[in-house]
Amino acid sequence: MKEFRHFINGQFVSSASGKTFENRNPVDNSLIGLVHEAGREEVDAAVAAAKQALKGPWAKYSQAKRIELLNKVADRINERFEEFLVAECLDTGKPRHIASHIDIPRGAANFKAFSETLANHPTESFRLDTPDGKGAINMGHRTPKGVIAVISPWNLPLLLMTWKVGPAMACGNTVVVKPSEETPATTTLLGEVMNECGVPAGVFNVVHGFGPDSAGAFLTEHKDVDAITFTGETRTGEIIMKAAACGLRNISLECGGKNPGIVFDDCDIEKAVEGTMRSAFVNCGQVCLGTERVYVQRGVYDQFLARMKEEVAKLKLGRPEDPDANFGPLVSLEHRDKVAYYYGLAKEEGATVEIGGGIPDMGDAELNQGAWIEPTIWTGLADNARVVREEIFGPCCHIRPFDTEEEVIALANDTDYGLAAAIWTENSARAIRVGEQMEAGIVWINSWFLRDLRTAFGGAKQSGIGREGGVHGLEFYTELKNICIKL
Ligand code: NAD
Repeated sequence: MKEFRHFINGQFVSSASGKTFENRNPVDNSLIGLVHEAGREEVDAAVAAAKQALKGPWAKYSQAKRIELLNKVADRINERFEEFLVAECLDTGKPRHIASHIDIPRGAANFKAFSETLANHPTESFRLDTPDGKGAINMGHRTPKGVIAVISPWNLPLLLMTWKVGPAMACGNTVVVKPSEETPATTTLLGEVMNECGVPAGVFNVVHGFGPDSAGAFLTEHKDVDAITFTGETRTGEIIMKAAACGLRNISLECGGKNPGIVFDDCDIEKAVEGTMRSAFVNCGQVCLGTERVYVQRGVYDQFLARMKEEVAKLKLGRPEDPDANFGPLVSLEHRDKVAYYYGLAKEEGATVEIGGGIPDMGDAELNQGAWIEPTIWTGLADNARVVREEIFGPCCHIRPFDTEEEVIALANDTDYGLAAAIWTENSARAIRVGEQMEAGIVWINSWFLRDLRTAFGGAKQSGIGREGGVHGLEFYTELKNICIKL
């Protein structure tokens, strides 16, 4: 039986309590292995190792040496690509061709992109006039923040975790990662890679477990953690924010979304269909930036809806290794219960189910044990329906007609969330005008999920606090000090 152990101070360790939990494959609910659940003892040890490592050889590494090491980590992930790929597909059930194009290569690239960007960013300097006429020089100086707790979700496990670990380490911090209980495998593998590349013990640590009353809570409440970076649900973000208040620790929160897609009648309809298909259904709809509310201008509404239904009908559900399959299961049976609840609620709230709406018969006894769900399109819901307002995080969207630009801007912004928006139009003045009015951290025009890693990423409103990405991560991952020198 495979076991997933904690990675503390450069070593894989079991839980002292002997407590483990099962890691199951959502494709057929088969057992992948047992995961050790960290108690306070393991979390204390991981944080102590991270704190100690801040004073060890890591502190003396030049920036160039850190960058060289992080490049090595990226290269080693790519050398062990197949192992990372298999591990990610087993944990999530996602098609191999998706994980091999997105999760693993981008997960590795995060170690390169940030170190180069951060290394080339200047700090400020000002010359101050003084009454004696001699002046003073003020010089910005950045130091690592310290021990960073990284709490990550299950939808893009390696990619979203390294998105934080990469810049944290590039800035000279040490980290303790608590990956999602659903997807422990690639984070554990990364521990092996860190040792292979010669990353000093204690710089990268992993503790496994759940959130409340488990590793997640023990870590975020730990007094020796200097800052917490979290990606996950808004509700969890609120709990973590409270934990961070104790000791005034800094937080970065990347939370949920209920993102609008806006299709104007002057769009290229095939581009809009292709993009909305991806934004609503890729990764079985489990992408924070995905589109769950689609607004279509009346002139192209019927055509757009008909084309979307045609494309959804073509999605092929199947095992990750099935080369024809482009649609996997949800991450777990528990998450399927949540999504299926919303499928039921949509009917109660008066939706017309245009396609899908249920749990499929996979025609195979083993697969029928998995967390499969049908890709679904609804129409006809009221704007205040819970299905239109709450994040479902499944392969589904509601499509609604609109008439004017003003009306659709109000509809799109009528949400507690503010993560992303996608706009489909061939009129560039309109694209910019509407894009500027979206209350969201990222707005796509005629595209989706396309982003230069040097740009800022984060959410407005209840989708998060702070910006990561590019040089923006510096604000979170470093302490900016001013040194004032009297001349
Ligand atoms: P989640 O909030 O349930 O869990 C995320 C992580 O937090 C897990 O590791 C979990 O164990 C941990 N956790 C849970 N309760 C905790 C607590 N009390 N204290 C400390 N840690 C705790 O989220 P999820 O279900 O894993 O992920 C899906 C959610 O993540 C969706 O809402 C999605 O929109 C969001 N998400 C956001 C982004 C973004 O960049 N904004 C990206 C991906 C996912």
